[in-house]
Amino acid sequence: MKTVRVVVVGAGVIGFSTAVCVAEALPFCSVTVLAEKFSPDTTSDGAAGILFAAQFPDISVERQRRWFKDSFDHLRAIAQSQQSPEAGPFFSSRYQIFKDVPADPKPYWSDLVIGFRLMTDRELERFPGYKFGQAFTTVKCECSSYLPWLEKRFRKAGGKVQQRKVSSLHDLSDSYDLIINCSGLGSRTLTDDPQVYPVRGQVLKVEAPWLQHFIRDGDGKTYIYPGIHGVTVGDISGCSYLFRLFTLYCYRIVCKCKYFHNLMLFFALKQRKKFEGNSRFFAKFKIFFFFT
Ligand SMILES: Cc1cc2nc3c(=O)[nH]c(=O)nc-3n(C[C@H](O)[C@H](O)[C@H](O)COP(=O)(O)OP(=O)(O)OC[C@H]3O[C@@H](n4cnc5c(N)ncnc54)[C@H](O)[C@@H]3O)c2cc1C
Repeated sequence: MKTVRVVVVGAGVIGFSTAVCVAEALPFCSVTVLAEKFSPDTTSDGAAGILFAAQFPDISVERQRRWFKDSFDHLRAIAQSQQSPEAGPFFSSRYQIFKDVPADPKPYWSDLVIGFRLMTDRELERFPGYKFGQAFTTVKCECSSYLPWLEKRFRKAGGKVQQRKVSSLHDLSDSYDLIINCSGLGSRTLTDDPQVYPVRGQVLKVEAPWLQHFIRDGDGKTYIYPGIHGVTVGDISGCSYLFRLFTLYCYRIVCKCKYFHNLMLFFALKQRKKFEGNSRFFAKFKIFFFFT
């Protein structure tokens, strides 16, 4: 049988996940990942990597449910396997809070995550101005571990890796039979698609081991996500209560940092792009502050 030459453009979480699937499932394919940047320099490396479901009005709920279930079950299987410490996915629990009761208090993904329930009044007392909340456990997948783990799997399946910038997808058509575009924000120029654009926000990655639970505003714009390699706190909205809480946490964190040598406060200005008005992807811009 003739070998099918496949190229995946992009080495972020989408590119490597796709490349691993093709290389492992279709051994008659020769798969190459071609990218300008690899871990730790992709947008995926900057992501908190927590798994939540958004709701897109022009895609059927059934389809969104299937997407979310597939992703959740895939990451859950890794999180509860012995591979979890090397691969990155682990379970993360607690609160999504709302200022008003949402239209769908029990959303389509509620039976797909673990232990979904509504928050009690006593739990909500911690969040002045918030009237409603959901408590559940999801999976957090940190790409600083997950991408190297995927790359290892990819190479083991015979995959090849090449680092270079692609200026046009058409240029690859002589060398490959199938081109899979996973170039993230790079798609704006590679596919000449103005609907792919970044949106700015702020994200801090900090050392704060006393924070154990995620807290997320229901609109998804403000959040605190504890992880293995630090806590991600972010805001892409105005000055909400959560943002003030987040600032307070940061103040505590910075104060605490001063007592330790070489603790690093990582500040990332976050850019988000919207793709076809639906799916959201992010790019990042990082500034590092060192407290010694
Ligand atoms: C601060 C932050 C926090 C986030 N938190 C979360 C979260 O908690 N949960 C969540 O689900 N998502 C989160 N995201 C979003 C998530 O990071 C992105 O949706 C995801 O990383 C997109 O992955 P990707 O593989 O499509 O793109 P990227 O990771 O951007 O990878 C793109 C790849 O394409 C390559 N490329 C681009 N153009 C070219 C070219 N011309 N030639 C060659 N190579 C090219 C790049 O070099 C790179 O290798 C967050 C994002 C940010 C910035």
